[in-house]
Amino acid sequence: MGKICSCLCPPKNQGIDKKEDEKESLITSSIVSNQTPKISKRDFNVVKLIGQGKFGKVFLVNKKSNGVLYAMKVMKKKDIDRNHQRLNTINERNILIKCQSPFIVQLKFSFQDYRSIYLVMEFIQGGELFYQLRKSGRFGEDRAQFYAAEIILALEFLHENGIIYRDLKPENILLDSDGHIKLTDFGLSKSGIDESNLKTFTLCGTTDYLAPEIIKSHGYDKAVDFWSLGVVVYEMIAGLSPFYAENHKDIYKNILRRNFEIKPYFSQEAADLINKLLTMDVAERTKYGTEVKKHAFFRNLDWEMLEKKEITPPFKPRLTNNVDLRYFDEGCTGQALNESVVSVGSTSSYLYQDFTYVNDD
Ligand code: AMP
Repeated sequence: MGKICSCLCPPKNQGIDKKEDEKESLITSSIVSNQTPKISKRDFNVVKLIGQGKFGKVFLVNKKSNGVLYAMKVMKKKDIDRNHQRLNTINERNILIKCQSPFIVQLKFSFQDYRSIYLVMEFIQGGELFYQLRKSGRFGEDRAQFYAAEIILALEFLHENGIIYRDLKPENILLDSDGHIKLTDFGLSKSGIDESNLKTFTLCGTTDYLAPEIIKSHGYDKAVDFWSLGVVVYEMIAGLSPFYAENHKDIYKNILRRNFEIKPYFSQEAADLINKLLTMDVAERTKYGTEVKKHAFFRNLDWEMLEKKEITPPFKPRLTNNVDLRYFDEGCTGQALNESVVSVGSTSSYLYQDFTYVNDD
């Protein structure tokens, strides 16, 4: 387990006449006490921009002390504030620390400075499942079954730990260098949901994958993840999402009317699985979702072997070295960078309590 910084003293002398560098060392030493490991963006070299999220950028970085590669998500405090994301940001960091699952991306370090907060995660080199899906057009059912099953193990872990993921979509499903999945981006996840099925009300998630109860603001629980799973399974087999439309309004309409078409090439098992996961009735969907591992779509699958990663993935990324970025968006990786890119922008004096985390095993 990693170490969590327990001390946060307010920074002194935040005078505007201080040079930026001095300011940053000041905040770093103020945030990190003597007993806790010091960590800051100066400990990393920035290699490339590899992703752009809703509220921040993700960089490939290497740690200066040992050359290990990581993915560093940088979110500007000003943007976080503008979008009212303080709580979500803290949530994301806390959930990542709590989630030690082979199918969920691991957080290695978190820290902050005047401008930004930083989440340093293991680098998942195979890129987004979305990228592979767009390249292949659609997946065969065997391949879709493998990814769906590993996603189910990740969701099962989250739900057992009282977390609703809320943002399941192919862009957030990454492939590691062997071809196993890892979920990333917990900015919208909600923790503290227990078996009493405490419901939560915020409207969030990406349009195509939203469950009807989210659109209707009826409050929702882990059943929303089973709905999104149904959408993702459909999308993997058909190559486009079941409720696809030209604009958000029509997508919402399609979702609320449960307007989707099972394609003639879907197997009976796939069609039945999708129909069950896309059930409007939340209680019924929860029942199907909780029993999904027993569904006929997975009948030939050994779940124990899957959990131990003993099943060979249907596709192994073809990587030539550990900085091969062929599976990442060239619009990102093609950008020229220097370290200042990571930290441009205005400063904020808001300090996140107990934010520093080090899991450097
Ligand atoms: P996010 O802001 O978390 O949605 O991340 C934006 C994009 O950055 C993702 O869709 C991925 O393409 C990439 N990304 C995020 N985390 C990682 C990671 N740990 N390893 C590799 N790429 C990542």
